[in-house]
Amino acid sequence: MSEFAGLKAIVTGGASGIGAAIVAELERQGAAVAVLDLNADQAKPLQFTCDVADTGSVNAAVAAAADALGGIDIVVNNAGIGAAGDIAGNDDAEWARVFSINVTGISRVTRAALPLLRASDHAAVVNTSSIGATAGLPQRALYSASKGAVLSLTRAMAADHLREGIRVNAVSPGTADTPWVGRLLSAAEDPAYERAQLEARQPHGRLVSADEVAHAVAYLASPRATSTTGVSLAVDGGMQELRLRKE
Ligand code: NAD
Repeated sequence: MSEFAGLKAIVTGGASGIGAAIVAELERQGAAVAVLDLNADQAKPLQFTCDVADTGSVNAAVAAAADALGGIDIVVNNAGIGAAGDIAGNDDAEWARVFSINVTGISRVTRAALPLLRASDHAAVVNTSSIGATAGLPQRALYSASKGAVLSLTRAMAADHLREGIRVNAVSPGTADTPWVGRLLSAAEDPAYERAQLEARQPHGRLVSADEVAHAVAYLASPRATSTTGVSLAVDGGMQELRLRKE
């Protein structure tokens, strides 16, 4: 019997990068998975257009996904956007927008799914934080603050819903090889040099793969992790826990 047989999952930001790898991994392990994304491919089954910054859009997409799946056991809150700069680099509207997607989006989506999670025997939520939450990355003030809030929210949700049998955990990836990072690199003057710089910043000397993050998410969401809640699992080559930097 496969690990996720009979379990139903929704993955926000599931159309690209880490989210797409999570969808593939959960499906490989036997789950039925719906993608909720701004860029959902409507031609594909179980893909629903959703803006996690908009409550009406979230409520409609979660309801449609739950209908199609026949319930929801697992919510992966992975949709997120970046922001560069120090505190002077982003105005109030940008702070509100990034928090609305990266933080409040988690609350909107999970709140919409909550009655279904309460009805599930294997309810799990996994939120995507980032190394930025704890590492003090330069020129990432807004992004880092939003991802720190993801960790705080994860712990608060874990405490609030523990007795309802809903586990809530986070993953904190280091810099990962996704279309997002690809976009950043192609905008650089010398993409190959920038990529080498990013790789050198990782203690293990390379970017994290989206699949490595997906494996961590799948573990936290799985019935194997039933005593694990409120944690953040780092997938960053040792950067956070070992306080390592590659020289
Ligand atoms: P990506 O840009 O490749 O994919 C992000 C997906 O989220 C896209 O499909 C996009 O359409 C969707 N999305 C964006 N805004 C949305 C919204 N308002 N509503 C619904 N969907 C929306 O990015 P990625 O690198 O795969 O990042 C995924 C997550 O991982 C993000 O939360 C990001 O902060 C986090 N993360 C990424 C890295 C990295 O280095 N790539 C490192 C740490 C954490």
